[in-house]
Amino acid sequence: MSKLITLGILGGGQLGRMSAMAAARLGISVVIFCPDENSPASYVCKENIIANYDDKAALKKFSDKTDFISYEFENIPIETIDYLNSLKQDSVLPDKSLLNVSQDRIKEKTFLNDHGIKTTRWSSTSDINDIKNTLKSWGGNEFILKTTRFGYDGKGQIKCDIKDTDELNKFLNDTDGQGIIMEELVDFACEISIIVARDIEGNSETYGPMLNEHKNHILHKTTVPSNISEATESKALGIAKDIAETINLIGVLTVEFFVCKDGGVLVNEIAPRTHNSGHWSIDACCVSQFENHVRTVCGLPVGSTARHSNATMLNIIGDDVNNIDDLLGADNGCLYLYGKRQARTGRKMGHITFIKPKGD
Ligand code: AMP
Repeated sequence: MSKLITLGILGGGQLGRMSAMAAARLGISVVIFCPDENSPASYVCKENIIANYDDKAALKKFSDKTDFISYEFENIPIETIDYLNSLKQDSVLPDKSLLNVSQDRIKEKTFLNDHGIKTTRWSSTSDINDIKNTLKSWGGNEFILKTTRFGYDGKGQIKCDIKDTDELNKFLNDTDGQGIIMEELVDFACEISIIVARDIEGNSETYGPMLNEHKNHILHKTTVPSNISEATESKALGIAKDIAETINLIGVLTVEFFVCKDGGVLVNEIAPRTHNSGHWSIDACCVSQFENHVRTVCGLPVGSTARHSNATMLNIIGDDVNNIDDLLGADNGCLYLYGKRQARTGRKMGHITFIKPKGD
């Protein structure tokens, strides 16, 4: 690595912030492109370009200043990626194939099912009669409705009972004009995720499976090792690696799974980026998910994901950030605050990872 590298990251959230911090450790500078002032990543980068994703002059400046470009969340408009790729061929990694798929829950489930990967039963839906008919064929009363786009951390989704027509109608009214997907409610044993990092030479490394516990549809706690059975672990690892190979991934990819009571797995979501369930890797692995994100999109070899410690990560959400005195003094606790000015309900403000070296 003789030349000094500059990496551009689209998006300024905490994932971008932690990738920029990992880049700094490798002597790589980061330019953040984000529409918001005072974004979490803006405090830790070399330069921060504040502009909308359709601002071509700003995107050109961003492209000129950077050697490689990536992103930290999946809702970057595809037109932005196309424009950046037209300025410098294939400069944005991971490439747009999976980004396009992961932006839309219907495209995502179709992609998975077309590749023989099982998901929960689902249906594209628009009105209450349609929902009733679909539910008749599935059986049961409960199901989940989600907007097909822009949903995250429980936003744009509800768990419904068909008998609660008021709540159902409210959701359909609130989301009028947006695409809706109806999903069968999975009575899962647990939820896990796997992160794959794959470099330009096709070498790959994985993190996990991680055991994930949610509260109000938002990740609350991640534990490694997950202590799921070896058979389930190898099924999930096989699926995650297959997806990475199929799309010829260069970068980082996260796959979220439901583990069924019979040990089978269903894929819930995929995202071509680092993930909240991998934050523990900063403190429990020599090479974190963020460093591997930076390495792989900058043409460097993927680093070993070997884990030297067991870890439990807790998210700090909303007003919890006002009670961090105990966390500041916690034994073996590695605390991260994202520098967000306002603590809103459900907003991820930071996290803490408790580590226990293996063998202790
Ligand atoms: P998602 O935005 O799809 O990742 O959903 C957030 C969380 O809601 C998941 O991690 C699950 O805990 C829960 N959830 C989402 N979809 C389903 C489903 N079809 N069945 C049961 N739980 C679900």
